[in-house]
Amino acid sequence: MEPAIEAVNLLDLNLAQLEAFVESLGEKRFRARQLMRWIHLYGQDDFAAMSDLARSLREKLAGRAVIAPPRLLDTQASEDGTRKWVLEVGAGNAIETVFIPEGDRGTLCVSSQVGCALACTFCSTGHQGFNRNLTTAEIIGQLWWANRALGRDPKGERIISNVVMMGMGEPLANFECVDAALDIMLDDFGYGLSRRRVTLSTSGIVPALDRLRDRHPVALAVSLHAPNDALRDVIVPINRKYPLAELLAACRRYLEAAPRDFVTFEYVMLDGVNDSTAQAHELLELVAGTPCKFNLIPFNPFPGSQYRRSRPDAIARFRDVLMQAGYVVTVRRTRGDDIDAACGQLAGQVQDRSRRAERLQREGLQ
Ligand code: SAH
Ligand code: SF4
Repeated sequence: MEPAIEAVNLLDLNLAQLEAFVESLGEKRFRARQLMRWIHLYGQDDFAAMSDLARSLREKLAGRAVIAPPRLLDTQASEDGTRKWVLEVGAGNAIETVFIPEGDRGTLCVSSQVGCALACTFCSTGHQGFNRNLTTAEIIGQLWWANRALGRDPKGERIISNVVMMGMGEPLANFECVDAALDIMLDDFGYGLSRRRVTLSTSGIVPALDRLRDRHPVALAVSLHAPNDALRDVIVPINRKYPLAELLAACRRYLEAAPRDFVTFEYVMLDGVNDSTAQAHELLELVAGTPCKFNLIPFNPFPGSQYRRSRPDAIARFRDVLMQAGYVVTVRRTRGDDIDAACGQLAGQVQDRSRRAERLQREGLQ
């Protein structure tokens, strides 16, 4: 049976919403769990193949619902094992999802928006401007495709053990859809990931941080990038709305819901901009009293970018200041360089609806 025009895309629904949907079809709630397992555990998109559902239900579903992930445009594999999926999200736009294997963990980097409106000056996505929020189906669809392609290891464990919301976009600027997608990631009938294996990276939208804490306090990464408001106002413009003191207070409130956790502060290393040892000391003062780790990210250049990557000795000195103060510091290795899959290089293809790029150019700001 052909689906009706207003067919519901089941990839948009978390378990509670799927339960409401099956009840609206006159079916028992527990059918939603079976459906969820077929869709997310087995990557099934054909109702006819769902063998433990009655034929009558399968037919009802085929008439009322679809399982429609974003269309797969391309897949690429890097020499270092990194893999990339390019997905079509309509109107000439594409998003990219990257899988990074490392030892016994496999991390999928997921996007939340087409472009980003927050315009951090060192970020390729920010440079392209903003088109729209991704739907829940488009967010979870990235995991759906990658999980279907990668499957399980010989011990039956899923190859994707961790998810980081660090692709294109600011996840907390698309709260509702990201929230439902997180539900599905954490659900035992979905991807069964534990709270600590899902990391959300944000540039610091303070009210949304509080909402996230109340819903599901997943591991939190905060894009700090500067040790004071004067510099952060310039390179992470959302700082003018939510300055550092407010952001750090929100981080501490967040940890109240996850008491043994810590925040990971991300810090992109920009040559001559934010990488001096004096700035490292200033950073230590800023974060005092907030349980945290640091992740230093060597800047990845992109066409038109105005910065240079910090020199390796500058990164080492900066790291040493933080380590000598007793902090855990990691320096992110650049992965997937040869397929443009490194941080801040997830360009995808964005038609800027806000026309910010042209506007800035007209105003002589770029
Ligand atoms: N919008 C969210 C998540 C996406 S960006 C955020 O800003 O946190 C994921 C990480 O990559 C962020 O820490 C971001 O600042 C960093 N990043 C962006 N552009 C980069 C670049 N060109 N080089 C290195 N890291 C970059
Ligand atoms: Fe947006 Fe994050 Fe890029 Fe800033 S760094 S422009 S918040 S995606």
